[in-house]
Amino acid sequence: MNTATTPPLFITMHASDNVAIVANDGGLPAGAVFTSGLALREHVPQGHKVALTDLAAGSVVRRYNVPIGYALKDIPAGSWVHERLLKMPDARELDNLPIATVKREPMAALEGYTFEGFRNPDGSVGTRNILAITQTVQCVAGVTDFAVQRIKAELLPRFPNVDDVVALEHGYGCGVAIDAPDAIIPIRTLRNISLNPNFGGEVMLVSLGCEKLQPERLMPPGTIPLIDERNVADVGNNADAKLDVVCLQDDAHIGFMSMVESIMRQAEEHLERLNARRRETVPASELVVGVQCGGSDAFSGVTANPAVGFCTDLLVRAGASVMFSETTEVRDGIDQLTSRATTPEVAQAMIREMAWYDAYLKRGSVDRSANTTPGNKKGGLSNIVEKAMGSIVKSGSAPISGVLAPGEKLKQKGLTYAATPASDFICGTLQLAAGMNLHVFTTGRGTPYGLAEVPVIKVATRSDLARRWHDLMDVNAGTIADGTATIDEVGWELFRLMLDVASGRKKTWAEQWKLHNSLVLFNPAPVT
Ligand code: CA
Repeated sequence: MNTATTPPLFITMHASDNVAIVANDGGLPAGAVFTSGLALREHVPQGHKVALTDLAAGSVVRRYNVPIGYALKDIPAGSWVHERLLKMPDARELDNLPIATVKREPMAALEGYTFEGFRNPDGSVGTRNILAITQTVQCVAGVTDFAVQRIKAELLPRFPNVDDVVALEHGYGCGVAIDAPDAIIPIRTLRNISLNPNFGGEVMLVSLGCEKLQPERLMPPGTIPLIDERNVADVGNNADAKLDVVCLQDDAHIGFMSMVESIMRQAEEHLERLNARRRETVPASELVVGVQCGGSDAFSGVTANPAVGFCTDLLVRAGASVMFSETTEVRDGIDQLTSRATTPEVAQAMIREMAWYDAYLKRGSVDRSANTTPGNKKGGLSNIVEKAMGSIVKSGSAPISGVLAPGEKLKQKGLTYAATPASDFICGTLQLAAGMNLHVFTTGRGTPYGLAEVPVIKVATRSDLARRWHDLMDVNAGTIADGTATIDEVGWELFRLMLDVASGRKKTWAEQWKLHNSLVLFNPAPVT
């Protein structure tokens, strides 16, 4: 939106709000007059709040029809309402919450939408056909990476149906209190990532030998799917998949090249099987979409996240699985979530995850307000309450039918709250473990985020960002603030793009440039 040609415009989220955000690119100067007659008393940057009425000291400042703060002094109408003028409300207690109170009509089923995917032995569907090499410990990362470079250069050209070879590098595996109760989180995360639908059930491990996270502990019997007779061990009563491990400390290895060639030899077997697979038409219900946001601004909750929320509803109507996450960014809206739970059990599971996270933060002497960044504030978000209200709308309006603890694998369709930190890389890593085969990421400040394991569709909250980052942003939701598209239209655009990307017909910009962030395991347990 060009300030020179566009009249002063603010966006209000709810009729009872007493602040609104300035929509114009570059913000507006003192003296700018809105069509309502309200005149600005000072310059207000784009995305920042303006007082619509006189706000007396101590009064509630309301956005999204929710108190996002209390005025620390008298704020006359037309003033810039920035975070230094607001006292943040306390987090809502976790008792006496509304439990499964919202009873809505079932949403009309959305039928006939399909994509071309890779069916897996366990019934899941991949959107890409990737060989993943799991590592039990960080010690083997250098050797594995060396081998992966050679596999890509020497083997991959012979297997044209395989999209990529990815080393699942991480910082865990040794030097950790592996018997601490919370160690279950990084261990099951790594296990479940190895079983992500995009890897076709082909699991191979590189182990050092002396590490705490032994291969059998990472992948106990029964966790790896049986593919065919070639990966079966113990044929007979105890038929189970063979655990394919290259152990660097094996006596058989004389020199570095022996290790590298051993990894390459094992990889070739998996590549042959993966290469024999073909995409087939599957219903849109096979999508497992993880949504998250990063580098948020005040437009996140106005444009991109509502469009994602609309698309979330479309996915749920199509019978797909959708996960939303980021505990510190939903904590202040917990009452909205527990009321949308399908059953009291789902609501209680959400409360349990929130309570666990409150205690986790308290152990580090902080609370959920540690979430907001300098960039969030520069983008107009005064505090975590305001940020959370904009973040939660990614979940749309469907009933919430499931809750996952960090690192757990998703087993059901519909809308699930997958409890994760809001950290982009940790949230993405945990959604991978849950089984996501497509990732949607909204950003206002701009981040070049990407993952090697699944396609990441990035949605810009503002047209200015979409213009400047034209070869990084896949969808521009800024058109909603510009008035050239509706939330529904951008939601549908995103839904159709998802089917194209899932089918391999389109690549996301992050795939195009191979922008890959590291896997970051969430380890709340002690290191030693
Ligand atoms: Ca995030």
